[in-house]
Amino acid sequence: MVNSTSKADISSIHSVDLRIRSIKTEYYQIPLAEVLSDAKHGDHTHFEVIVSKITCSNGIEGIGYTYTGGKGGRAIYSLIEDELKPILLGKDASRISHIWEEMTYHLHYVGRGGLLSFAISAVDIALWDIRCKQLGEPLWKVAGGSNDRTRCYAGGIDLNFSEEKLLNNIQGYLDKGFKGVKIKVGKADYREDVARVESVRKLIGDDTIFMVDANYSLPVETAIRFAKAIEKYDIKWFEEPTIPDDYLGYARIAQATSIPLAMGENLHTVYEFNYAVQQAKLGFLQPDASNIGGITGWMKVAELAYINNLPICTHGMHELHVSLMSSQPHAGYMEVHSFPIHEYIKQPFVLDKQGNAVAPNVVGTGVEFDPTLVNSFLVKQS
Ligand SMILES: [Mg+2]
Repeated sequence: MVNSTSKADISSIHSVDLRIRSIKTEYYQIPLAEVLSDAKHGDHTHFEVIVSKITCSNGIEGIGYTYTGGKGGRAIYSLIEDELKPILLGKDASRISHIWEEMTYHLHYVGRGGLLSFAISAVDIALWDIRCKQLGEPLWKVAGGSNDRTRCYAGGIDLNFSEEKLLNNIQGYLDKGFKGVKIKVGKADYREDVARVESVRKLIGDDTIFMVDANYSLPVETAIRFAKAIEKYDIKWFEEPTIPDDYLGYARIAQATSIPLAMGENLHTVYEFNYAVQQAKLGFLQPDASNIGGITGWMKVAELAYINNLPICTHGMHELHVSLMSSQPHAGYMEVHSFPIHEYIKQPFVLDKQGNAVAPNVVGTGVEFDPTLVNSFLVKQS
């Protein structure tokens, strides 16, 4: 039975016109300060950011975005502009789940789990920004409100660094207040990786969290040999030891070592995460809201992690993930990625004295690009 109060509530909600009036898409190529390398993608010289700005009939504007390691951005821009925009205009922006399903199945046949996941992410994040602005609340509260801060670590992309430069870089993270660090591994001879791990552990001492990341470069047997050799250095997780599709290979590695495994940046559907949880014996899940279908997709994986008693973690876009991780009771460690997107937005990225990342306490997602910082990197816009 509907009483008079709820009738009034419903009519006031209906009076808010959140139909999507316009969508503006922007594509940026932002150079890195220096070349950064990992074992499988090689050299990174720049990263790409594709921004989706959605304006509703009542004037609220939501800002969403995705990013790449330097390739594919034009195709993502086209997917948003040419394929998604026509089905989004006029839709009620508050119906996020409905829109998410529509986008997913509109292009499912050609795009499942690929570039489409990036395009959906940019749109979905803009819709969540609109939801937060409509509610007048910050994302960390709207997404769950567990806390306003989260544990984190500095994720280096440093495989091309000499050992001396590697250690200087790690020292730089410690000087900034980080309590956790991650390095790349996957050298041609895994014994060189072992030596680098030993040197880093010696530098950071016993109390700093330490992870390694092979960017899926190793055969299963090499990964096992390497993992056994570094067990004594108290490694929090071994990330992407082998190709992300080989869940049973992950399980073999996990069974052979005491180091927990982590993956997620290359799982681009929630179903892949589900199979990975069932089969790969992972210790940590690392969805990236920029490629798992935005905040909607990330929250689905966070739920999956929760019911499987696994910590939820992240990859990349820490300026947004800081709010999502803070919102969750089972947050593990957020990666503060080496692509410094946070340097191009208006809100500062903040670490507290304990080395936790603090979620921006502003209405919305807290990610608004600063035109004075990004305009010179704009490649095209609608
Ligand atoms: Mg990684």
